[in-house]
Amino acid sequence: MIQAGEKAVITIDAIATGGDGVGRLNGMVVFVPHTCRGERVEIEVFKVKSGCAYGNITKIIEPSPYRRADFCASLGACGGCDLAHMEYAEQLFVKRQIVADTLTRIGGFTNIAVNETLPAPRSERYRNKMVFPLGQDENGKSSGGFFATKSHKLIPLTDCRQGDRAASLWLAATLDYINETHTTLYDENSRRGAARRLFVRLAEGTKEAMVVLTANAKKIKQPELFVEKILAVPTDYTVKSIILNVYTEPNNLLLGTKNKVLYGTETIEDILGGLRFSISPHSFYQINAPQTENLYNTALSLAGLTGQETVLDLYCGIGTISLFAARKAAKVLGVEIVPQAIQNAKENAARNGITNAEFILGSAEEIAPRLAKEGNTPDVVFVDPPRKGCEEAALSAILQMNPKKIVYVSCNPATLARDAKFLCQRGYSLQEATPADMFPNTSHVEAVVLLQRDN
Ligand code: SAH
Repeated sequence: MIQAGEKAVITIDAIATGGDGVGRLNGMVVFVPHTCRGERVEIEVFKVKSGCAYGNITKIIEPSPYRRADFCASLGACGGCDLAHMEYAEQLFVKRQIVADTLTRIGGFTNIAVNETLPAPRSERYRNKMVFPLGQDENGKSSGGFFATKSHKLIPLTDCRQGDRAASLWLAATLDYINETHTTLYDENSRRGAARRLFVRLAEGTKEAMVVLTANAKKIKQPELFVEKILAVPTDYTVKSIILNVYTEPNNLLLGTKNKVLYGTETIEDILGGLRFSISPHSFYQINAPQTENLYNTALSLAGLTGQETVLDLYCGIGTISLFAARKAAKVLGVEIVPQAIQNAKENAARNGITNAEFILGSAEEIAPRLAKEGNTPDVVFVDPPRKGCEEAALSAILQMNPKKIVYVSCNPATLARDAKFLCQRGYSLQEATPADMFPNTSHVEAVVLLQRDN
């Protein structure tokens, strides 16, 4: 019997979904974060649950050749980069393995061609969105940074190598403003204090930026001083939008519902694949812009559009995949649940002179059954759901519409495997899967697969 507190030396054989290394101790599987394949490590077990043990490294006995050092001083403390201790090529290998293993384990698929992971054009400073929680550090000083692994303990940061330097500089300017105006900082337990988070979004294609301060208050002190401090930061970006996001709800979402524009406009614009996209703070936008083009181009090439097809794009966000597809199809319909995103999508079609794309506000699980009932029969359906995957009602409606091809873009291999299995038990075949590295240095895996109707 293994018990918490036990020390042992084990070898890491593989990397599991979620990024932990996997080894064995007395026949029992042990998960150990921040390890690499082939590494011998001394660990201390901290938990034993449901037939597996969980340990932390106390010493690296024989480092793996895949290990690299010094990516970030906060590695291990900050919950962000759980693969940054690995060489980049190894991260790509691991992600392919995770997709292949998950398709087999959860989907029951064997003999599926899982292509090499598409490497990201940049493996650091790629994030176009940064969200820094604000709070007090251990000495009561106002600070901002990231949450520690699996907790809401604030890890202060002066710079993060995942995002553009500009984001870190705006964080520093925000802390300056907070100190100068004696603005209080939000405390999750007491739910008191004003400033909650700094949210930064960058449009690489236009060099436009949006800076949002979320606050547990309808007003902030001297908003003009906040604007002045943000605009004074020298960066390559032009700040087009500074927003106070009123976030008085006790939940833990990204943003509260209400925006007050303090400077400029409520949206910024980006260029992707030659198309211009207007983006609201509440709209989803892929966080790795250059890799997004690769991801969409992969999805589009799997769809094999010839100009004749009707296309349905479920979970369409601001209409990115829809508009990429509209250039190669007869007609596209996008469906999305966030009202601001649908508004962006409609504006984006118009702005790009695209007249063969329409957008419907609503959930995929409500709209798709309605479309099926009305007799819609799209040739190709794209789905790109959030991590929890598709609701069965959405999948059943797709089956009823009977498209030739379903292109599934997923940020969670487990729900991808589950949903693909559902579809493949009902008349479709999984043709191939391509992991695309949208999130270098983290264990997050994006993949796109083609499901083709059996004849
Ligand atoms: N394809 C888009 C968005 C993908 S992210 C892109 O590449 O940018 C997933 C999107 O699904 C988000 O915009 C989210 O708001 C939306 N969404 C979440 N749940 C939904 C549901 N039940 N029905 C429809 N859209 C949903």
